[in-house]
Amino acid sequence: MLTYTTHRLLIIGLGLIGGSFAKALKSRKVVQHVAAYDRHPQECDLGMRLGVIDEAVEDLPSAVQQADVIVLAVPVKAMEAVLKDIQPFLRPTTLLTDVGSTKGHLVQAVRQVFQQIPSGFVPGHPIAGAEKSGVIAADADLFERHKVILTPLPESDPKATLEVARLWQSVGAEVLQMDPYRHDQVLAATSHLPHVLAFSLVDTLAHEEENRDIFRYAAGGFRDFTRIAASDPVMWHDICQANRDAILKQIDQFTSGVARLRSAIAAGDSQAMLGIFSRAKVAREHFSTLLAGSAYSANTQDIDLRIEPGSPLSGQVTIHSDRSISHRAIIIGALSEGVTDIEGFFEGEDSLMTIKAFREMGVVIEGPHQGSVRIYGVGLQGLQPPKGPLYLGKSETSLQLLTGLLVAQSFSTEVFVDEALSQQSLLSTLMSLRTMGAKIDSNEQGGPPFRISPSILKGAEIELPHASAQVKSSVLLAGLYAQGQTCLKTNRFCRDHTERMLKSFGYPLSESEEAGEVKTTINSAGTLTATKIRVPGDFSTALMMIAAATLVPQSSLTLTDIGVNPHRTKLLPLLSRMGANIQLTLHKDTGFEPVADIRVTYAQLKGQVFTAEDVACVVYELPFLMVLALFAEGQTLIHLPETLSAKESALILSTVAVLREQGAQLELNGSQLVLTPSALKGGEISDVLPPIVAFAMIVASTRAQQALRIKHSAALLAAYPALVEQLRHAGISIHKESD
Ligand code: NAP
Repeated sequence: MLTYTTHRLLIIGLGLIGGSFAKALKSRKVVQHVAAYDRHPQECDLGMRLGVIDEAVEDLPSAVQQADVIVLAVPVKAMEAVLKDIQPFLRPTTLLTDVGSTKGHLVQAVRQVFQQIPSGFVPGHPIAGAEKSGVIAADADLFERHKVILTPLPESDPKATLEVARLWQSVGAEVLQMDPYRHDQVLAATSHLPHVLAFSLVDTLAHEEENRDIFRYAAGGFRDFTRIAASDPVMWHDICQANRDAILKQIDQFTSGVARLRSAIAAGDSQAMLGIFSRAKVAREHFSTLLAGSAYSANTQDIDLRIEPGSPLSGQVTIHSDRSISHRAIIIGALSEGVTDIEGFFEGEDSLMTIKAFREMGVVIEGPHQGSVRIYGVGLQGLQPPKGPLYLGKSETSLQLLTGLLVAQSFSTEVFVDEALSQQSLLSTLMSLRTMGAKIDSNEQGGPPFRISPSILKGAEIELPHASAQVKSSVLLAGLYAQGQTCLKTNRFCRDHTERMLKSFGYPLSESEEAGEVKTTINSAGTLTATKIRVPGDFSTALMMIAAATLVPQSSLTLTDIGVNPHRTKLLPLLSRMGANIQLTLHKDTGFEPVADIRVTYAQLKGQVFTAEDVACVVYELPFLMVLALFAEGQTLIHLPETLSAKESALILSTVAVLREQGAQLELNGSQLVLTPSALKGGEISDVLPPIVAFAMIVASTRAQQALRIKHSAALLAAYPALVEQLRHAGISIHKESD
């Protein structure tokens, strides 16, 4: 068994990337000795003068023999020649890695030169760089918060991969793994094609005399688009040769995309033009967070929230619209016949993922523009296969609901998600859909990525031990296509936004309750007819403000146009039992979702006993009840339902942990929660909390002894972009801060 050490590291090719890696490792004292070899000795001399390396190598064979780690940082085309030079001197325990922008070509060269892949060989590619070259441009922080893709081979020793990963992580990089050939395809699309286009555009315009003015008066657009044409031409020449086939494929796809746009412009086809532009705009806007993390030169920034206690909530506040209803409006609008107009669409990262997914399946969607979205529905059978795998980011709702829809389509789909969601298990959804005949491959835990194959679905009777709106919705969407009748049985009511949305689009379904069993039945014979949807204000965010206004003396707040679906508002009577002052003024019933203005004023609460039946339908809102109970007079006892889903249990445990850390006296004995009035200290919370727990902690902070800083809130703010402004509008003293 081989063991690897990383004391002596040798960089071959001391340019921008080799120099930056050397400088980063040396300045952080990750390895004991950094040597470098370059075909121009003066580069190494400069490296010594700049303090980038410890030794400028003249005798390459002996440096190779002594090295524990060798990093090839030469242009991709020079890799093969370097491999030939070092092969006779490499020890079996030496780690061999590289930083080249293409991988397939290198793997081929290693096979040729070594006859077989050495177990210490682990190819790599840092997704970081600059439009500069040479060791003079070396930057010790170049890889901080950037991704590095390692592409180990089946022959690579996992211990070697771990060591190489550790080196990159020690210089601040986030390490990912990928198959080398997949790497080349992905990079051809995301990096090589944009560079090729930028070079070609500048070259094309520069050739035309009448275009000289474009350079003279170049506006921001031209500068932004062509910045990367200033990159090293030789490097890009080499990359185009090394990754020829994948780049050609991308150029062909792009050419046909431009041809489609050209014919839309020529024909004055507004719908096609708007389809292309709005798909691109939304994709760009909502991938920008993701792009920032993976771009060559930008860094993502973490954001903390700081809340000062004591400010009363007052006035009249309109809050963002409902997330759950927004997702469903897009899904059902896309599947309907005709044009659906949505007002008040919630423009959060998650619901925009749903829009993006339907655009990729050929649905033309205009907007969102200030909450307005227009969907040109394609009917139940009109979705088209997406061109590649569907990426659903961190949006669990998109993932759950679309899985139910995709299993019923006549095409195969691959679905993948952000790392943050990839641990999520959808076993309950998958089991239900498989009962109907769905073909879904998942990871071992029942999580994404999913490979979904077409199948003929059959209606079935499905019992859900834990009532979940997302699982139910997923099955109902599959039920739109399944032969015969699909009947869902749950032991308690849960949110019914999908059922209400289907009915608004004229789709029949029936719901009944008997002996504590809730039954929802749907047949596949119906049609969805486009309509107008007005999405009401989000009740979960409203609940945070209701709880905070109840807690802070002198508060008197009115929230307007809030969705008060009876399955969402079940916490309100429990709060009233504790003495809260909450009044609902219902709007005229439109038959869709009930809407109300909610007025709430400060109240001194009293501890209560809540039975499992009381809280069965409000488990997700319990974090608010737990926080309020800590400020009530007397103890509060909450009996939790016996059968909690894994997600519900995790939520309760996370709330218990963070409240205890804040100084709360609370005991969790089996399924009993005992909360004793306590002072919460404020300070800092550094764990990343589930959104509803973060909301509850914002409520808690309004009565904490000192300001509370909720760290790592970037994901929360991406999900709720207007959160801070709306809380401030209500009177809460909250600020975004970055380190
Ligand atoms: P660079 O600044 O030009 O550095 C490469 C160095 O290697 C140069 O000093 C070069 O000398 C030297 N070299 C060339 N052939 C050699 C050989 N046979 N033996 C020893 N030294 C040799 O290039 P870079 O930007 O650092 O790129 C290095 C590698 O990183 C490439 O494989 C590239 O694909 C990859 N990469 C680059 C970026 C980026 O943004 N620049 C990002 C990620 C990965 P000459 O100047 O004489 O050729």
